[in-house]
Amino acid sequence: MTSDVFSHLNLDGTMVTDPTATAFAAADFGGIINHPPLAVLRAGSSTDIKTVLPIAAANNIPVVPRGCGHTSLGQAQALDGLIIDLTAMDEVHDLSEDHVTVDAGATWNSVLARTLQHGLTPRVLTDYLGTSVGGTLSAGGIGGTSHRYGVQTDNVLALDVVTADGALRHCSPTQLPDLFHAVLGGFGQCGVIVRATLPLVAAPARVRRVKIYYPTIDDLIASQRSLLASGRFDFQQGEILPTPDGWVYMLDVASYYTPPHEPDDDLLVSGMGFAASRDKIEDLTYWEFATRLDETVTYLEGTGEWQAPHPWPNLLVPDARIDSFTSGIMAGLEHADLGASGLILIYPMTTTAFGTALFRLPEASTVYLVAGLRFATDAATAREMVAGNRRWYDAAISLGGTSYPTGAIPFTSADWTRHLGAARVALAEAKDRYDPQNLFPRRFA
Ligand SMILES: Cc1cc2nc3c(=O)[nH]c(=O)nc-3n(C[C@H](O)[C@H](O)[C@H](O)COP(=O)(O)OP(=O)(O)OC[C@H]3O[C@@H](n4cnc5c(N)ncnc54)[C@H](O)[C@@H]3O)c2cc1C
Repeated sequence: MTSDVFSHLNLDGTMVTDPTATAFAAADFGGIINHPPLAVLRAGSSTDIKTVLPIAAANNIPVVPRGCGHTSLGQAQALDGLIIDLTAMDEVHDLSEDHVTVDAGATWNSVLARTLQHGLTPRVLTDYLGTSVGGTLSAGGIGGTSHRYGVQTDNVLALDVVTADGALRHCSPTQLPDLFHAVLGGFGQCGVIVRATLPLVAAPARVRRVKIYYPTIDDLIASQRSLLASGRFDFQQGEILPTPDGWVYMLDVASYYTPPHEPDDDLLVSGMGFAASRDKIEDLTYWEFATRLDETVTYLEGTGEWQAPHPWPNLLVPDARIDSFTSGIMAGLEHADLGASGLILIYPMTTTAFGTALFRLPEASTVYLVAGLRFATDAATAREMVAGNRRWYDAAISLGGTSYPTGAIPFTSADWTRHLGAARVALAEAKDRYDPQNLFPRRFA
C-alpha cells in the first residue's frame, strides 16, 4: 500500500508524506518506539477527518489520532498507517461562565490561558500543560486535584467524535453514551475526538504551596494519608527524590485562595512536621502554579534530557498495599535507575469522584499514583528501564494495582484485556458498532 490513495484530496489542512513528516510522527516523548506511518494528515477541520477515514478504510490503512505525542511507548504511532495530527485544530470556542468548548488539538496551556481571562479554570489540570485536550481525554488526565474531582475524563460534558465510517457524532452522558464512554480513556480506538465541552469553575487568584521533605517514605505516606482524610489542601502530590545523601520524600501540597481570604501559614502546616530550616512555603499566582513545570522543561531542554528517551511507568496501587509496593521497588533502587533528573511521583487519591469506565482503578477507596519519571541516556539504558517498568507493573498487579497506560510499560493484547477487566465488554460492543473493521487498531483481545 502506498500513500498515493491520499493524494489530490481537497483538504483544509495538509496530507504530508515526506520523510521529515513521517519521522516526526514516528517519534514520541518516550523516544523508545519508532514506527513511521505512510502519511500524516495535519487536519485542518473535522471535514478533513471525515474525508480521509473512508479512504483509509477502503484501503485497509490503520489510522491513529495524535495530539502532542507525549505518550511514552508508541501509543500515538501507526506503523505504515495514517496519523491524524490534531494539533492544528486548536481553537477555543464558546466560552461561558460554566463551560468551554475546545478543539481537541488545543493544549491545556492554551485552554487555561483563555479561561483565566474570564477568571475560570477546568477543575483538573495535568502537571504539564503542553498536552492536548484530545490526548489526555483519550487517556484519563490525572492531576493534583484528582483526589477531589477525579480525572479529566470525569469532567467532560460532551464530545464531537468522527467515527470510522466518517460520520461526525455528538455524544455525551445522555446522547450516544456508549460512544462517549468508549472514547473517554479509550486511546483512540473508537474514533477521533475533534471537540470537547468541559465544565469550568471559578479560578483562585493565588496558591500557597507547601513542600515538606521527610526523611522516610513512611513519614511521607502517613502525612499524605492524614491530609487526604482531612481535605486540608486543594492540591496534593508527592515525590521521591534522589540526593547525594540518599532518597528524600517530598510532600507537595497547595491551598488555593483569592485575597482577602489568605490562608494562615501556621495553621496551614500545623501538625505536619514542617521545619522552616528545611521546608518551603511559596506564594504563587494560579497561572504560575499551573505552569510550574515550564522551568523544569527549560532546564531539561538545556541538559538534553527533554530530548532523550523517557521510559516513564504509571501505576495505581491500592492504599492498603502501597507500603509493600514501595518497599519492593525501593529495595536496591539506585539514582542511576531513574537517570540524572529522575524522580518518582507518588500521591494518594480518594476514588469517590472517579467514574470513567476505561480509567481502570484498583478496587479501593484510596489509590496511590506511582509514576517513575526516568531519563535514559541511550537506547540500551532505556531498554533496561523498560524491563524494570515491567517488573514494577507485575508487582503492582500482584498487589491489586492497575496501570495508567500512557507510559512505557510493554503491554500485550492479553495485558490490555486484563487491564480493561469489566469495562472490556462495553468497549468491545462500541468497537463493533463504531469501528467494526478495526480501522483504529484494536489493542485488546
Ligand atoms: C512532561 C509530561 C508530563 C505529564 N504529566 C501528566 C499528568 O500530570 N497527568 C496525566 O494524566 N498525564 C501526564 N502525562 C501523560 C500525558 O498526559 C498523556 O500521555 C497524554 O495522553 C498526552 O497527551 P498528548 O496530546 O501528547 O497525546 P498523544 O500522546 O498524542 O496521544 C495519546 C493517546 O491518545 C490518542 N489520541 C490523541 N488525540 C486523540 C484524539 N483527538 N482523539 C482520539 N484519540 C486521540 C492517541 O492515539 C494515543 O493513543 C505527562 C506527559 C509528559 C510528557
